[in-house]
Amino acid sequence: MQTQILGLLTPLMALVFAATFAALWRFGRLKRHVLGFAISYLLFAAGFLSTHLLPPDAVYLFHTTQAFYSLGAAVFLASLCDRVGQRVHLGSFAAVYLISAAALTVAVSVSNEVGARLIIVNTGYGVMFAMAVTTLLSARRKTMIDTAIIAVMAVQAADFLVRPNMTLMFEQSIAAAAYRDSIYYSLIGLVLGVKSVATAILLIGASVAEWTTSLRETGERDDLTGLRNRGAFEDAMRTLLPQAQSQGRALSLVVADIDHFKQVNDIWGHQAGDAAIREFANLIGRMVRGCDVTARIGGEEFCIAVWDCEESAAQRLAERIRSSFARTVLPGMGEDMRLTASFGVVAAKEGEAYSRLFARADAALYRAKESGRDKVVVGSDEPRLNQGAWTGTFRRELPRSATA
Ligand code: GH3
Ligand code: MG
Ligand code: MG
Repeated sequence: MQTQILGLLTPLMALVFAATFAALWRFGRLKRHVLGFAISYLLFAAGFLSTHLLPPDAVYLFHTTQAFYSLGAAVFLASLCDRVGQRVHLGSFAAVYLISAAALTVAVSVSNEVGARLIIVNTGYGVMFAMAVTTLLSARRKTMIDTAIIAVMAVQAADFLVRPNMTLMFEQSIAAAAYRDSIYYSLIGLVLGVKSVATAILLIGASVAEWTTSLRETGERDDLTGLRNRGAFEDAMRTLLPQAQSQGRALSLVVADIDHFKQVNDIWGHQAGDAAIREFANLIGRMVRGCDVTARIGGEEFCIAVWDCEESAAQRLAERIRSSFARTVLPGMGEDMRLTASFGVVAAKEGEAYSRLFARADAALYRAKESGRDKVVVGSDEPRLNQGAWTGTFRRELPRSATA
């Protein structure tokens, strides 16, 4: 009775973990790898249950459990790799499964001992885990959680490859009928239980961390463009500025404002205005590197923090965005109509606070507006005295096509 209850504990726990992952995926709106964890724990539960409930001397026992465990492991490992943007080679997993299933068929037919069967199936799992570890190691992104996951998977691989041999050294032969009474069987129950709990706790922690990050980011993003909003940009700058200082890297700030934008709304309507803002944001997104930080800080005003970049290189970036935008055909406006934007560019000075850096970039932008718009102005030693949003003091006719 006691062994019956203990034997059901592992599949029950696996079911609880499957439900937890499913709930995290559904309600936390997490990515598909979390659903993958749920499915794999469901398959592991089925594997644990069949190990426990099927007749120990049934010829299909090992085939059944192997099918559940292999499928579970394939889904599990593919999800782990998907989580860090890597892809596993499912064909190799299938090949490992087919080879070990064939070897198992031979082992079952030639001997009534379970030793060879155990080594065959566990080696198959070990090879799958080892393959996934090499894939995970080649991922670019590696947080502390990622490293912990790789370590746990490497331990799993080693356990599958070594444990059956070690155990069988102590318990030389196990007849299939006596399998459930063997030391090996008690040990495997314990090891699988501990492994599945430890792995599940680590992955639940990782998923909760992903959930909180996604919650935080939704509040930080601008709905229209998907860029950071003003608050998030200022937060990022408060981290980036000291980081650039301590690492001795240049950090430049580009501030951009679309010219005569009020008239776009007046003439073509708000929808066309929104589309133009989106186009400008897309253009910026395509031209910056992954380490740069972009934001929409106001109506048609944008900021780019250009990491590890001197003023002159940031000026060239702004120039590329400017000329590209001046050529862009915008939806909802006349075919020959083009918009322009003005830019202010400054590099951060030693020990400079974000507010002063921004004020200097804004002063450069002001000069770009003042001197005719559709320009990039670099460097300003002094912030503009009368700070604030553009009021359009220098408004002229809306420019006709820049290219025509
Ligand atoms: P300047 O060349 O001096 O920058 O002129 P401007 O007309 O662009 O100047 P201003 O900053 O005064 O006008 C910005 C306008 O942008 C005001 C507002 O109607 C419009 N705007 C602000 N946010 C949005 C938005 O989300 N969508 C749309 N369609 N328009 C917006
Ligand atoms: Mg403007
Ligand atoms: Mg403006």
